[in-house]
This record gives sequence, structure tokens and C-alpha cells, in this order.
Amino acid sequence: MEQLLKENNLKITDVRIIILEEIYNLNSSINAEELYNLVVKRKKTNLSTIYRNLKLLTDSNLVVKVTEINGEIYYRYNNQEHTHHLICVNCKQVLPLDSCPLHSLESSLEKDTGYEILSHSLEFRGLCPKCKEKTHLK
Ligand SMILES: [Zn+2]
Ligand SMILES: [Zn+2]
Repeated sequence: MEQLLKENNLKITDVRIIILEEIYNLNSSINAEELYNLVVKRKKTNLSTIYRNLKLLTDSNLVVKVTEINGEIYYRYNNQEHTHHLICVNCKQVLPLDSCPLHSLESSLEKDTGYEILSHSLEFRGLCPKCKEKTHLK
């Protein structure tokens, strides 16, 4: 993590390293407040420090904003891969899809419109199996 910070010309601070480690170890996305609750267990900090660092880390592309649910921004570690996600709107679990379903669509769009397509984004939101079950039990 220190190396990553160095490569991005970011000053190395304990909190910054802990933030990166926590985000890296998650297999779901996380919002600032949840992240604060994890970080504060390891190092005294405050919510505005978390917000400030999240902004720095997203500006340097180490962390990416996944989605916004009810006005809350959710972040995840940027593994630099081109992936799409299934996001559970209830528990915020993020499930990466194995493949990109859009590349053939891109080619046919390019053919039809004459555009050169440079990028796209796509996310699916729903309820994961666990949350779906809970909702049906209610
Ligand atoms: Zn869920
Ligand atoms: Zn794609």
C-alpha cells in the first residue's frame, strides 16, 4: 500500500494506508461512514478525514466510486480491470461479472453510427440471494 501511495505522489499516512487496506480487503463496496467505523478501530480518526482521503484516493484512481444509493456514494478498490457489477441495493454487496457483455454491441454500434466507441459503463442493481430471501420472509 505504501508503494501505491508513493507511485501516486501521495503522502504516506497511517490513516491513508489503513483506508486502502480496508477497502482492498472488502468484497463489497463501502460508504464513508462504514469505512470510518472500520478505520477507527485501528487508528483514531474522524469522518472528515475519511472524506478527504476518499477524495484524494479517487482523484488518484486508487479507489473508484461504484455507485450512489440513496444519496450515499459507495467506493471500492480499483483493481484496474474492465468489469461490470451486480450491486445489491440492500447489503451493498458487489458482485463482479466475469465478462463484458457489451463488446459485440459496441462493434455493431460503431458500424451503425460511425462512432469510435472509447468506453462504456454498466451496472446492475438488485437484491442478492440472501437479501431476496429476507424480503420474502417479511
Ligand atoms: Zn444483499
Ligand atoms: Zn464492458
